[in-house]
Amino acid sequence: NVSIRELAIDFGSVSVLKSLNIEIQSGEFIVLLGPSGCGKSTLLNAIAGLTDITDGQIWIGDKNVTWEEPKDRGIGMVFQSYALYPTMTVEGNLSFGLRIAGMAKDEIAQRVDRAVQILQIDPLRKRRPGELSGGQRQRVAIGRALVRDVDVFLFDEPLSNLDAKLRTELRVELKRLHSGLGSTMIYVTHDQIEALTLADRIAVMSGGVIQQFASPKEIYRRPVNRFVAGFVGSPS
Ligand code: ATP
Ligand code: MG
Repeated sequence: NVSIRELAIDFGSVSVLKSLNIEIQSGEFIVLLGPSGCGKSTLLNAIAGLTDITDGQIWIGDKNVTWEEPKDRGIGMVFQSYALYPTMTVEGNLSFGLRIAGMAKDEIAQRVDRAVQILQIDPLRKRRPGELSGGQRQRVAIGRALVRDVDVFLFDEPLSNLDAKLRTELRVELKRLHSGLGSTMIYVTHDQIEALTLADRIAVMSGGVIQQFASPKEIYRRPVNRFVAGFVGSPS
């Protein structure tokens, strides 16, 4: 249900994405894996509508969203840096976008209740971001996408600022969240363990192109080229 067609992005004279194609099915958990600078964030930002594209199209569902505003794309994005409003409480952060959109109070309250239950941050509702741990902040950031009831979640290395233990914990939660919601998730990382445990399919990127797009098993067993083999390492 997310379709990227011949997507090209240049920054000045540098071509960062090169006629990239990818077809993602509804409900899939897709991991974009690749070395620093290969264009992962650029691709995610393009899907979110946060960067100008040079050529190509982006479809979400049966809608060409290439020229749609970010807020009209039916996506929710979670960044590495949580991007929470520091002066608002957890509740305030969760409800802000809905209030701006003019949603009815009851509906907002219901959605916030549901999000804090799912993410297990109910006791933290009245706290401000400065009074939360990194993992708790990241849950709030996920919650902000959750309350919007989006079809597609985009994650840009959401766990990379967390310590190893929390990362493992949140990884499990993300997986649970995904099976519970059944939404499409596109998740950027350069952590192979994350990619292996989370992904239905992994897109291995380098130099602005997708080298291989397949299940974790397939990528480890049958890497299509030396780059993929070298990057994911050998299975045994
Ligand atoms: P990382 O794993 O380090 O986050 P990435 O795969 O997300 O890397 P991108 O952020 O997509 O990489 O960047 C891809 C390339 O585009 C890099 O060479 C980067 O320097 C360049 N780039 C990104 N944003 C801009 C910009 N606004 N202007 C110019 N060049 C940019
Ligand atoms: Mg990046």
